[in-house]
This record gives sequence, structure tokens and C-alpha cells, in this order.
Amino acid sequence: MKVLVLNCGSSSLKYQLFDMTDESVLAKGLVEKIGLEGSLLTHRPKDQEKKVINADIPSHAKAIQMVLDALTDKEHGVISSVKEIDAVGHRTIHGGDTFTESTLIDDKVIAELERLVPLAPLHNPPSILGIKACQEIMPGIPQVGVFDTAFHQTMPESSYLYGLPYEYYEKYGIRRYGFHGTSHRFVSHRVAEIIGKPMSELKIITCHLGNGSSIAAIDGGKVMDTTMGFTPLEGLIMGTRSGNVDPAIIKFIMEKEGKTIDEVDELLNKKSGFLGISGISSDLRDIEEAAQKGNHRAQLALDMFYQRVRRFIGAFAAQINGVDVIVFTAGIGENSIEMREAVCSNLTFLGLEFDSEANKVRGQEREISKPSSKVRVFVIPTNEELMIARDTAALVK
Ligand code: AMP
Repeated sequence: MKVLVLNCGSSSLKYQLFDMTDESVLAKGLVEKIGLEGSLLTHRPKDQEKKVINADIPSHAKAIQMVLDALTDKEHGVISSVKEIDAVGHRTIHGGDTFTESTLIDDKVIAELERLVPLAPLHNPPSILGIKACQEIMPGIPQVGVFDTAFHQTMPESSYLYGLPYEYYEKYGIRRYGFHGTSHRFVSHRVAEIIGKPMSELKIITCHLGNGSSIAAIDGGKVMDTTMGFTPLEGLIMGTRSGNVDPAIIKFIMEKEGKTIDEVDELLNKKSGFLGISGISSDLRDIEEAAQKGNHRAQLALDMFYQRVRRFIGAFAAQINGVDVIVFTAGIGENSIEMREAVCSNLTFLGLEFDSEANKVRGQEREISKPSSKVRVFVIPTNEELMIARDTAALVK
């Protein structure tokens, strides 16, 4: 079975074509600047040179058509006909309360996704465009929605509700949803497989630390809490997002700086976090480099990040009454040796014995705690696309 995985953003589209017989990637690529000047497709077929195609790409429908053309091209294609694609899996950010697991898409599902747009006004519309374009271009090929929020739907009310008047939850769905669910699910299942224990017997804390970051507490296979909330702004300090702040600061900044609510929203989402604190960059590599050269604010951004990662690990361990395994994943989690060392070497109160030698690893699966450690710690590279392909294949079968 061949599964095409699509991740549609507002002006971009990422794709991977999987052969599910061995879960290999036949081709992957990226369409950039959809609807803008200078749009292009970068196609990377397995074992072949990448191919860059510059073209006018005014819509997601055109982008998907170009992806299919690239996949079936005589020279750099990997399949002979679109008919070889058995199903399409879509990364969909927000499934609200409705979608607790991956779902086969039909008109009712699309209508529900449209109803959920107010919850994810930036992220869900491009997914819907992608789904509709596939219906048009590849009629009859089953499509599956895989939701970033779905894995977190097991959170108890006590975790997902805010201390706001209850009617706002009832009227508008204001609650914590959590994001990165597909990644938290992938790495938690993978670590259980490595350890050789069922999820039902494990307490796992998964740290997805990248440009956007979130941590999840998973007890017996169920997410009990996660750091992101109603939007991906809540929780940890991120590349450009502030994470948790006292909400009263918003009014204060508006008054002091004469900013509108939209400007403060932008400040919290795009100008805060590593970028705002360091004044240097949103990229952790740049911050680490500047800190090594003695830049105080870069070091401060790192220390603040480490402190918050530790804080949530500690809080979640208390919440689920213990932790057997901690997993680090995503760009920072998989690569930052310094971050893992700084976070884990200060978790000895949990009985965690960190192995600094084993920790010298980037982007590879490895256990980085000592054999005698009460809490096992792993680096597990995430693979959301493969998870989407697996769900899609399972639902279509
Ligand atoms: P992601 O959003 O998962 O792609 O992660 C992006 C983040 O990972 C950026 O902040 C990068 O600086 C960080 N990252 C990627 N590679 C490294 C590395 N080798 N060392 C430290 N951070 C890294």
C-alpha cells in the first residue's frame, strides 16, 4: 500500500510518499510560497538528486497537482500513475473535542473541520483546502485526518479546564487542547516498544522540544496533562512564543506601549521566547553559540528554557505520581546535548542517574540514563509523517 502524507500550511505544503510494505519513503518534498511571488517545489525522490521546479503556484490545488506530477514524472518520479496512491493522510492541527483519533474524511468531517476553524484560524483552513483539492484531483482515493490535538483528548477535565467561568467552555470551547499529539504518541509508543513493556504499565513524560515545544504526561497510555493549551502559545518558552505569562501583563503592555490587542498577540507569538529574551535569534543553535561566547542574554534564554523544562517534568511527575521514562524529541530534544545535560542532571531527586557520555548523541535513538537509574531517559527522533501514514493505512484497510 502507498500512502501520501500531506502537511498543508497557509503558504506551504510538505509531502511524503510512503510504501507501507516496508514503511520506506519513496519521495518527499516541499512546495513553498503558494499564492506568492517566487513559488517553487523541491522534490526529493529516494536515491536520486533533488529536483527544484519554479512555477506560478497560485493555490493549494495547483500545488497538489504539481506534487502528483512530480511523483509520476518519467525522470524523477517514483510511481507510474496516481492510481498507485491508495490513500492520503492529512496532518490536521485542530480536531477540537470532536476528533479523539484519526478519522476517515467524508463531507460530514469536512463540515465539522469548518465549524472548528475559529479554534485554529491560521492552521485549519489550509488543511481544509488541501483536503478539498485532493477530493477534486484524486476523486475516490480515501483521505484520513490525523489531528495534533487527538492524543491529548484523554486529559481529565481537571487538567483541561481553565479557571474561567465555566460557561465560556460550554459556549466557545475555551479549554486546553494540547498540540504535537502525533509526535507525543509516536515517541511514547516507540519507547514502550524499546523497553518491551505495554503502555498500560508505564508512566512516561515526553518532551517535544523544537521551534514550538510541549511536554506531555502519559500514564498507562493516556495523556493526563500537557503544556500547550487553547493555542500553542501556552507552556514552555519557545523560539518566538512567550509560553506562560501572567495574563494581566497583556493589559499592562497595551497601556504602556499603546499597542492594540493584535499587536500584543503578535508580540507574544512572534517576538518573544528565545528571540525576545536574547535579542539574537529564535534558533537554539544561534543562542547556544552566543552563550558560549559569553553573551549574558543568550545564556539567560537557555537557563530560562532549562528551568521551565525541569519545572514541568517535576510538576507532571507529581501529577501522575511518578515517572518511569522521560523522552526527548524534536529539533532541540534530539540535538541539544547541553539542554539534556542541564535538565537531567538536576532531576536527581527523582532517582534519575544521568549518563553524560551516552548523552553525547544527536538525532539518534539512544538511552541516556545509567542502567541503575530509577527513571530511564531516552532520545527518540520523532516521525510524525510515519505516524500519519500508519494511521491512514490502518483506517483504509
Ligand atoms: P524543530 O521545530 O523540531 O525543527 O526544531 C527546531 C529547533 O531545533 C531550532 O531551535 C534549532 O536550533 C534546534 N536544533 C536543530 N539542530 C540542533 C543542534 N544540532 N543543536 C541544538 N539545537 C538544534
